[in-house]
Amino acid sequence: MRRPLVAGNWKMNGDTESTISLVKGITDGRAEVTNAEVLICPPYILIPRAADALNGRDDISLGAQDLDINQNGAFTGQISASMLVDAGCKYVIVGHSERRAIYGESDQDVADKFKVAQQGGLTPVLCVGETLEERESGETEAVVARQIQAVIDVVGINQLDDAVIAYEPVWAIGTGKTATPEMAQEVHRFIRAMLAALNGDIAEKLRILYGGSMNAGNAESLISMTDIDGGLIGGASLQAESFLAICMAAN
Ligand code: PEP
Repeated sequence: MRRPLVAGNWKMNGDTESTISLVKGITDGRAEVTNAEVLICPPYILIPRAADALNGRDDISLGAQDLDINQNGAFTGQISASMLVDAGCKYVIVGHSERRAIYGESDQDVADKFKVAQQGGLTPVLCVGETLEERESGETEAVVARQIQAVIDVVGINQLDDAVIAYEPVWAIGTGKTATPEMAQEVHRFIRAMLAALNGDIAEKLRILYGGSMNAGNAESLISMTDIDGGLIGGASLQAESFLAICMAAN
């Protein structure tokens, strides 16, 4: 049985005050979420603020939104896996579509980040998903398979044992357009079948999250699908009430 995971990707939002208040809101409602795992991914500089606000609580995990492939040294502006672990992170998002599209990260870059994240003691949340153009030309499965295969080529299938995949159709991120539960399930099922062909145990255990305009109103219908094990939430993770409602839907 896969434990549901609800992850909040705060993106480049927030400050000290909003971080303290959002963490307080989430911790206040956390007790009702008895089963699902809860993860928040603030901007780098707010991770220590969030850790302070959590005040030693370990029922809400911390993660980052990206990392560098190097450990330390002359890489101005970058943050390494060991720094994230030092700041209290357990998870790190790799290959978010905004990183791929805006910052030009290739499948190979994402695979390298996946590898260094694990080597540094972090669990990667690997984001995959097709653009609208790719969906409309019937390439969804090919794109998702290519993005996952790039990681498997670098780390091997066994490393998927300690990872999370987030299927995030690019056209649904931040747009208010959500994949229907059936559309999302079809891709989640495809991902699990692809992995099952390589290792049935890992495929069965791996959590595959849906992301893309998930909110309090649509979370339950999405997460109730067989192969959807939670959500990666952008906009709706910035308010404790909507984020907790999604956590409850995953519970
Ligand atoms: C995301 O950026 O990972 C995301 C799913 O954003 P939103 O929920 O705002 O669509």
